[in-house]
Amino acid sequence: MLPSIQFDSKMLKKYDTFGPRYTSYPTAIQFNHDFTRDDYQNEVRLSNSAGRPLSLYFHIPYCKSLCFFCACNKIITHSETARTVPYLERLYTEIKMQSELVDDSRSTTQLHLGGGTPTYLSDDQLSELMSVTAEHFNLAPEGQREFSIEVDPRAVRDNTIALLYDLGFSRISFGVQDLNEKVQQGVNRIQTYDQNMRVIEAARSSGYESISLDLIYGLPFQTLESFGHTLDSIIAMKPDRLAVYNYAHMPHRVKAQKLIKQEDLPDPVTRLSILELTIHRLQEAGYIYIGMDHFALPDDDLVKAMETGTLQRNFQGYSTHADTDMIGMGMTSIGKTDNCYSQNQRYEKAYFQAIDGRQLPIMQGYQLTFDDKVRREIIQRLMCQGVVEFESVSQQFNIEFNHYFAEELILLKPLAEDELIQLQEHRIVILPLGRLLLRNIAMVFDIYRPRTVTDQLFSKVI
Ligand code: SF4
Repeated sequence: MLPSIQFDSKMLKKYDTFGPRYTSYPTAIQFNHDFTRDDYQNEVRLSNSAGRPLSLYFHIPYCKSLCFFCACNKIITHSETARTVPYLERLYTEIKMQSELVDDSRSTTQLHLGGGTPTYLSDDQLSELMSVTAEHFNLAPEGQREFSIEVDPRAVRDNTIALLYDLGFSRISFGVQDLNEKVQQGVNRIQTYDQNMRVIEAARSSGYESISLDLIYGLPFQTLESFGHTLDSIIAMKPDRLAVYNYAHMPHRVKAQKLIKQEDLPDPVTRLSILELTIHRLQEAGYIYIGMDHFALPDDDLVKAMETGTLQRNFQGYSTHADTDMIGMGMTSIGKTDNCYSQNQRYEKAYFQAIDGRQLPIMQGYQLTFDDKVRREIIQRLMCQGVVEFESVSQQFNIEFNHYFAEELILLKPLAEDELIQLQEHRIVILPLGRLLLRNIAMVFDIYRPRTVTDQLFSKVI
């Protein structure tokens, strides 16, 4: 069980640096073009012998309008079927090609539809996508699977939420970001309270197991007061889960963000106060802090997984499904087996060209070394369980922890002095203050950090 959290603005300022979110280790920055589609095919075939269940991810890149903060890989278009029909044709070909690599016996226990805007697809297209998927993959029966989807409340038809439930989705997340009109104008995302309530009520009456809302703090024109009002309304909506992301302003990397003026952003003191207020209000309302921007109500599966030590971190953030291999389909999608990461072509043209040439659209990837796997395990344990027992890691990887990580144990000492962690003889334990600074603690074990962590590449920790 992870400890509660402690907010200490002095310490948070001290550790407010740039760092990865560790949805993978190594992070995507390490992916390279030396990893080929042949490597990918070999790795997936190899993974069949371990027989782990599968997690499928589909990327639907289209959106109707541009949110200025957005760093996702998306295509803004009103062409609808003129764009989606050719895309889905290729996606179905990819589904077939990918499914031919995996043993039929491997069950798909997790599936996620993300974007872009998955509901940019028509209801018929969504149904067709799920039936093509079921034709080619062995989908686990209801009760043994978790199918989730991201929905934009501004871009969803009246019956779509119920339809998605009938198609097998049991978890739904709605992007809200902020309810204040001035903030919404500042990021070009006008979304009314009624639009949000309409989709939440539709999800409740359809029977979804979990409803999640996404907010962002640090957006232009946000004030402590304005975000406080947003939080009040959101708490009243009573979502099962809440993700409160900090906005990473990186206009040199994300073109859309050039439309946000630096001077309109809240200053660091305000950002920190907003974070403090968010933690305070959500805890007061009964939400449990999971870690890295995520909160959930006590009866949510994420909290149960946190309590039983089965929580996992993957490309979608925190998850309850351990030990799956992930197959990413559609442009820009990321896949994972025990030994590698792979990423599909980022642009539509290259994605189409690969598929039309009957080739898997792998653009780049990464083959994990032994050392990567040890470090990945430690980062996973720090972020999900809050404790690393040296003996258990030593046994799992046949190493002598104190010797293997002698340098890291020295680097951890100042963090222990600042009470982010407790550095005991046989283990590292995250303390309440460290729970808000998990990235800083994990970075100590990131072998690539000294060469790759700069303000150009990663977002701020706070
Ligand atoms: S935030 Fe969502 S809707 Fe807005 S541009 Fe990005 S992917 Fe599209």
